[in-house]
Amino acid sequence: MAESRQTRQKRILEESVSSFTSNFDAEELLERANQKDKKIGIATIYRYLKELRNTNEIYSYQCGGKTIYSNTKKTHCHFIDEESGEIVHFDIDNLDFLKEKIKGDINSISIEVRGKFT
Ligand SMILES: [Zn+2]
Repeated sequence: MAESRQTRQKRILEESVSSFTSNFDAEELLERANQKDKKIGIATIYRYLKELRNTNEIYSYQCGGKTIYSNTKKTHCHFIDEESGEIVHFDIDNLDFLKEKIKGDINSISIEVRGKFT
């Protein structure tokens, strides 16, 4: 039996999301999905991303005024130079220091550190 249009679109979206090895945004996902099916629109992309967020299959972060997504990274950290507004990303390898501060299961973490670049 042939795949229904909906099943096909969902499969393409799944494949497109898992093809990203780093952060992506909705437009980048749309572009990748459109390589396989031009009929997939931005509304479908947003609906799908929301679904994945609700089931904790992807993480979302605010980055430079944009919402970005990741299917692997649980943390997204900024060090911001207060003079220039320039953002540098950094990673945290060990989150143990938070475990004693937070009662509950941690899903994802965003950190914004402000200061002056040296
Ligand atoms: Zn960022």
